[in-house]
Amino acid sequence: MKNNTPTLTLENSDIIDRVNRRYMISIIITVLWCLAVLIAIFVFNVGADSVSGTATLITSIAIPVFLLEPYRIIFDRNWAGTVKSVKRKDKPYKSKTPLVLDSTSITPIITIIIELSNGEVMVKRYKLKRDRYQYAEALVDYYKAGTVVHCYKGLKYLKKDPNIIQVNKFDHRLCIVCGNFGDWNHKECKHCKSTFVE
Ligand SMILES: [Zn+2]
Repeated sequence: MKNNTPTLTLENSDIIDRVNRRYMISIIITVLWCLAVLIAIFVFNVGADSVSGTATLITSIAIPVFLLEPYRIIFDRNWAGTVKSVKRKDKPYKSKTPLVLDSTSITPIITIIIELSNGEVMVKRYKLKRDRYQYAEALVDYYKAGTVVHCYKGLKYLKKDPNIIQVNKFDHRLCIVCGNFGDWNHKECKHCKSTFVE
């Protein structure tokens, strides 16, 4: 099937700068980390006398790759699609104190299934830390089924199509950089200082 997804461009320079800076930092840390591991192996002979020692060092190269995801620079892309479903699942938070089911004992996980115009299916999953528990319902409401959303390279949160913006029942707008909500009359997110895109 032909890909009909239009080219998406994000014009807010502060957000693009933020994404580029994050990419740059993850590449630099990954390269430095790998160099340090190689130096440890080949210059200081760490792990040279045991197979498992070398294996541990080589495995440690994978740590920044998984944590910082530098490969995203190659594989990430912009896309647009329609939300097919939004599901919320509350995962009990493992605590040493006796379990009380309130906002401090549950981690909400929001799963959004999006279908692209070429039939491809994308999944976005947001695990809300305990301090962001209050946003769970707002996110489910924000990305309701049928909403057209745009995803920008390097950004975790989806932006609604600018042509169909509706004020959600929480009367707040979403920051696509950090996932926090702000008032409609605010120009920038008070959490990460990014300009609101909408
Ligand atoms: Zn923000």
